Amino acid sequence: MSIRKKVLVTGGAGFLGSHLCQRLLNDGNDVLCVDNFYTGTHENIIKLKKNPHFEVQHHNVTFPLYVEIDEIYNLACPASPIHYQDNPVQTTKTSVLGAINMLGLAKRTGAKIFQASTSEVYGDPEVHPQTEYYRGSVSTTGPRACYDEGKRCAETLFFDYLRQHKLSIRVARIFNTYGPRMVPDDGRVVSNFIVQALKGNPITIYGDGMQTRSFCYVDDLIEGFIRLMGVDDKITGPINLGNPNEFTIRQLAETVIKLTNTSSSLIEKTLPEDDPTQRCPDISFAKSALDWQPKIELEEGLERTIFYFKSVL
Ligand code: NAD
Ligand code: UDP
Repeated sequence: MSIRKKVLVTGGAGFLGSHLCQRLLNDGNDVLCVDNFYTGTHENIIKLKKNPHFEVQHHNVTFPLYVEIDEIYNLACPASPIHYQDNPVQTTKTSVLGAINMLGLAKRTGAKIFQASTSEVYGDPEVHPQTEYYRGSVSTTGPRACYDEGKRCAETLFFDYLRQHKLSIRVARIFNTYGPRMVPDDGRVVSNFIVQALKGNPITIYGDGMQTRSFCYVDDLIEGFIRLMGVDDKITGPINLGNPNEFTIRQLAETVIKLTNTSSSLIEKTLPEDDPTQRCPDISFAKSALDWQPKIELEEGLERTIFYFKSVL
């Protein structure tokens, strides 16, 4: 029988956080969800609130947190470009001060701590697909820098706490993930395209749509989180977690049109500044260290996500 742990999830009311809380409860843990509801919603966790092993605390991770816990998953940070660029100073504070506060909490309690890092640490990559050894090509001054550099600094802090204070750390570099509970107006490409298609509105392709992304279904990603947290302390990461099948944004739009059977047309809009031209994870490390790889391919994951959006729109 596994021992019930008390697990803290920061950003637990967000898209990934709510799925992670659900999985941790299913696995028999006590879960403390900490969130300031900047992009997270109460709807995401409404079903979880009925579970006596689930607790919610309204809190901003840029301030210290005093709780007793065994494990921490640090997910707090807006992930969609429109949201993280809306208040860029707060975004950097959330990544950097949030990491310092959660690492301090881990140090005091002896908790194992996981960081939700990102493929954005590779910036607009010149190495393709991206391996964990690649150090990235990131603008320090552009509109994405608040997020990219904040996450890079958080990784630095995790490894300094490992070296200086011998913490048990795990750092996952997450590639584009999608699924139920994305917010309809969140601005990310999968939710935008599905919502536009279901409403019969034009599908907005930024630029010529030849930029690529690799899309991971949320359940696959959460399985990767749990495996990474469960392995030996020697496996700290950074470790890429994502689906290595790469698509152009135009291919994604065409697939969404096919699956929703919509009459929507495609329209081109201005490409945002510093939008990465290609992104695809090399997941060899995750395959060997965690015996993990995604199982749900794009069409199946999109069908599940379309089903969800039909129910909420
Ligand atoms: P999300 O915006 O749905 O969730 C982020 C959560 O953090 C929200 O609930 C938000 O309210 C909360 N939050 C933001 N600032 C906070 C603060 N200062 N204090 C407390 N809570 C705060 O985004 P998501 O897609 O669920 O992403 C979760 C994490 O995973 C983020 O750290 C993100 O950078 C990382 N990530 C996600 C993806 C992806 O494709 N979904 C890719 C790479 C990395
Ligand atoms: N994108 C698009 N139309 C949209 C939203 C996004 O063409 O309505 C593009 C965006 O320019 C980027 C890709 O889709 O090239 C992924 O964007 P998203 O914001 O989901 O995540 P990113 O990977 O850029 O952080």
